[in-house]
Amino acid sequence: MLFGSRFTLFRLYGIAIRLDPSWVLLAILITWTLAVGFFPASHPELATVTYWLMGAVAAIGLFGSIILHEMAHAVVARRDGLEIDGITLFIFGGVAEMKAEPASPKKEFRMAIAGPIASVGVAVVCYLVALAGGLIGAGAPFTGVFAYLALINTILAVFNMVPAFPLDGGRVLRAALWAWKGSLRRATRITANIGGGFGIALIVLGLLNVLAGNFIGGIWWFLIGLFVRFAAQMSYQQVLVHKGLEGVPVKQLMNPRPIAVSPDTTLADLVEDYVYRYHFKLFPVVRDDKLVGCVRLGDIKQVSRDRWSTTKIADIMQECSPESTVSPDSNAVDLLQRMQPPKEGRVLVTRDDRLEGIISRQDLFAYLAVKSDLEAEEDGRPLAPSRGWDRLRSGEDATR
Ligand SMILES: [Zn+2]
Repeated sequence: MLFGSRFTLFRLYGIAIRLDPSWVLLAILITWTLAVGFFPASHPELATVTYWLMGAVAAIGLFGSIILHEMAHAVVARRDGLEIDGITLFIFGGVAEMKAEPASPKKEFRMAIAGPIASVGVAVVCYLVALAGGLIGAGAPFTGVFAYLALINTILAVFNMVPAFPLDGGRVLRAALWAWKGSLRRATRITANIGGGFGIALIVLGLLNVLAGNFIGGIWWFLIGLFVRFAAQMSYQQVLVHKGLEGVPVKQLMNPRPIAVSPDTTLADLVEDYVYRYHFKLFPVVRDDKLVGCVRLGDIKQVSRDRWSTTKIADIMQECSPESTVSPDSNAVDLLQRMQPPKEGRVLVTRDDRLEGIISRQDLFAYLAVKSDLEAEEDGRPLAPSRGWDRLRSGEDATR
């Protein structure tokens, strides 16, 4: 949901390393600020082209550093049995995408701490390389780049250890609170609130920097602050969604009386009586209580309008793809995961060719909203502000 058209660069130990196009902007920004600011200041009297080369090499080094940091998270998570979707590099760094939340505080702690430890390790190695380079008389560009990488990896480790969820430090704190209080939900709420506060602090810091004339740096902190705030809210909601749907079977949330069409209906009637009336993009085709196919808006558009009254649904319907069907006994959490990002707005609930119901993301979120309304936290606080659910739900209709 965070990323648009990212693409896979390569795989490392079976983990996909993906690049979001926004990362290119970060690379350019890093190269540029290093070439015109950092390196000329730390190593005067080098040629301009050398500064640019150093900047480009350092940006590649940063790229590698972030991959190592995220790989450390991913490898530890996978060893603890957590499925990792892959690592994505984007404008604010990198993120190891987990398919679920860690199963225990201990696993969360190990996974979270692994990244900063890796960054400290890389910082130490780079520092030693710069030191050794100086001793054997390697050129200033060489030692300069490694000294920068030692510095930036230290900054990466320190920044990530701020106890603001979803930063690594916030995860470490969450693991501690979780172990102490026994509630993942509460631990997440507390640390996500700190995350939100930290986001605001960064936004303010950014604005102060802009006012002081440091425009690029200020905008940068401002944007990172916005991102941390957004990520904190999203992560908390993700936990709520997970906890809320855990152990709930699809059949409990589905609409048990789906609108189905007959294969003998003409396209003209389909459009008039069903498409315009219900605005769905997919209709199950049922004959004698059996699901015989699916008809989509796209299939209708393939047929020219003057043939709509003579063409029957049976002529254009297609087999329902595995993505558009689900078993009534399967888990609602798994279904939601499958629908993210939504490929099909509505999924048919089927058992042995029989259509038992239909379910949409809308149904899942409506259930969650009602549930969180009824079941406030022990301390009387609502689980989430209702506008939070609205935001999660908004835009879903477009894919129905
Ligand atoms: Zn990390």
